[in-house]
Amino acid sequence: MRVMFTSDELRGGVARMAEDINRTYGETPLTIVGVLTGSVVLLADLMRFLNMPVRVGVLHASSYRNNTRPGELIVNRELMLDISRHHTLLVDDIFDTGHTMVRVLEELREFEPSSLRTAVLLRKAARKEVDYVPDFIGFEIPDEFVVGYGLDYREMYRNLPYLAALEPADLAGDKS
Ligand code: 5GP
Ligand code: MG
Repeated sequence: MRVMFTSDELRGGVARMAEDINRTYGETPLTIVGVLTGSVVLLADLMRFLNMPVRVGVLHASSYRNNTRPGELIVNRELMLDISRHHTLLVDDIFDTGHTMVRVLEELREFEPSSLRTAVLLRKAARKEVDYVPDFIGFEIPDEFVVGYGLDYREMYRNLPYLAALEPADLAGDKS
């Protein structure tokens, strides 16, 4: 495993993103919706930098099942707040191909929020397969599989305070 961003660097990126969000919304009340499970660490850090009145909700979306290749996307909105007529910001850990975000946005639009923007900690620009760009981006990263700060490999490593790129020796199958 190789460290890509230290916890201090991550904190700086999240603070910059929050400043941008604060500037965009001003005093306007905001509903933030985190995509479980990868966004929990970002969500907790980001919300504490926000200055407007904030409501916080979550939804569950998962596409990566036990390996680094995408499977079917499952979106579960049962835990979500009512976002109808609320300015809403969807928060996710990483924008890779973009299919997850576009799919979740489609679902959220059905509730007719007053506005709908997106914030992601990381973006792999080279991998983009959809015609959508997140409104707020913490860091652009190369096409490497990363873990830590909420991101997992087979549900492990979410607790790492830094972001690290997995190396071939870290992949199950090579070692376990
Ligand atoms: P997309 O639909 O944009 O291709 O994929 C987005 C989802 O794939 C993310 O929410 C995340 O769960 C997973 N993902 C994509 N790239 C990575 C990565 O480098 N590391 C980890 N841990 N998950 C990733
Ligand atoms: Mg995810």
